[in-house]
Amino acid sequence: MTPIIGHFINGQLVLDTARSQAVYNPSTGQVSKQVALASKATVEEAIAAAQAAFADWRNAPVLKRVRIMFKFKELLEANRDQICALIGEEHGKIVHDAAGELQRGIENVEYACAAPEFLKGEFSKNVGPGVDSWSEFQPLGVVAGITPFNFPAMVPLWMFPMALVCGNCFVLKPSERNPSASLYLAQLLQQAGLPDGVFNVVNGDKEAVDVLLAHEQIQAVSFVGSTPVARYIYATATAHGKRCQALGGAKNHAIVMPDADLDNVVNSLLGAAFGSSGERCMALSVVVAVGDALADRLVAQISTAMTGLKVGAYSDGGNDFGPVITAAHKEKVEGYIASAAEQGATLVVDGRGVQPAGYETGFFVGATLIDHVTPDMLSYQEEIFGPVLQIVRVDTMQEAMALINRHIYGNGTCIYTRDGEAARYFSDHIQVGMVGINIPLPVPVAYHSFGGWKQSLFGDLGAYGPDGARFYTRRKTITQRWPTAEVREGASFSMPTLG
Ligand code: NAD
Repeated sequence: MTPIIGHFINGQLVLDTARSQAVYNPSTGQVSKQVALASKATVEEAIAAAQAAFADWRNAPVLKRVRIMFKFKELLEANRDQICALIGEEHGKIVHDAAGELQRGIENVEYACAAPEFLKGEFSKNVGPGVDSWSEFQPLGVVAGITPFNFPAMVPLWMFPMALVCGNCFVLKPSERNPSASLYLAQLLQQAGLPDGVFNVVNGDKEAVDVLLAHEQIQAVSFVGSTPVARYIYATATAHGKRCQALGGAKNHAIVMPDADLDNVVNSLLGAAFGSSGERCMALSVVVAVGDALADRLVAQISTAMTGLKVGAYSDGGNDFGPVITAAHKEKVEGYIASAAEQGATLVVDGRGVQPAGYETGFFVGATLIDHVTPDMLSYQEEIFGPVLQIVRVDTMQEAMALINRHIYGNGTCIYTRDGEAARYFSDHIQVGMVGINIPLPVPVAYHSFGGWKQSLFGDLGAYGPDGARFYTRRKTITQRWPTAEVREGASFSMPTLG
């Protein structure tokens, strides 16, 4: 019997098995579990539990909410190995990479613990004679998070710690491909002392998502996933009057200038392109080499360095990266490699057919390097989300920047150079939300906020950090006067001014 993963509603593990789907161990290619796919009634039950818990939770002193988060952080650290094993088994990322993911998630819990500071509000005395005014940041109510497969712990941790410390209750719908980490986090929150109903997890697919998008008690929706789904989520949630932030896909380019330190560039590109099998929204998937001479050297050095890469099962810490998420995704990635070759690009290293010994049925794609890629190619236009690095050759930095600025995605980018003036011009004019200067994966730390531009983010506020605090609260501004018996004003029909 394969175990069935259910939901976590009102402090209880709940099973609803009318519909379910297989969960794979991508390293072996075998089904390891089943996940229940929530019905409309189950999602409504979770929303009702969250709504019932809201009145007490919003009134709990912020210090009380934050102390639960402190405890939760301790539990995340104490159970690190268990969480990383769940991530590795269902996602395929290598244990050291899972530990990195979890650590970046924990940093969001740490930032959320600063809630007493960022919820303090704003106060102005004497905005008029004897009149004071202040703004406070109130919770929204029940909010929902819908998350992707590629960071089963970190992306949920971008969302719910902040939402909870701000006084909201939460319904999380994690990826159905790797649901176990979220359920485990829910149980740790309960151990940390979170009241039942404040945090709920429903597993499921589009059917569950559509209930969240339309339900009148859901006030806001945070989404992270692919762009077509992000666009749908944003359009549907906002059409139902909800606040929404929907983070989508990416195609992150690195410009390599002729003056860059190539040894450093090659090392950092390998990790940024192939780490986590390229299944990161900040993965560097395109290198724009400025000048043919540089491109030739770069391709030679990268392909040599790639011979040392180790692809294999998540559980062996000696591996550099693991499998991709599903058999269908492996086929899709391999399809992009084939299409690049068919459209005239040069396959320098072809990762198709790589199958580590002992894991012959796992969903592996080896590291792939493709040169002479041009903007008209499908593999350039679309997000591949696999261990595939493509080289585009241009003659000038302006040409390289124009290429990036024309792309539909604008998540992350990077420039490698020793020229400060070029780097400054690049960071000022590039149409991308997160920019690295000699930093290949410029993922903002937890006390900044994460957000791409163009079709990488639908909505106004990014994830976590200060934007997260604004997203999960709404400002209320109160103006007060306590008139004394001596001060009585007659009716006034004009706008008050201090003139
Ligand atoms: P996905 O869009 O397939 O799924 C994301 C979530 O949406 C899942 O919970 C899924 O159940 C749900 N979903 C899928 N199809 C749906 C539909 N038709 N209607 C309603 N809900 C639906 O994404 P994925 O494959 O899990 O994740 C990979 C994608 O996420 C990549 O495109 C990657 O770039 C992106 N991503 C972006 C960021 C970012 O911060 N911008 C971070 C991580 C991942």
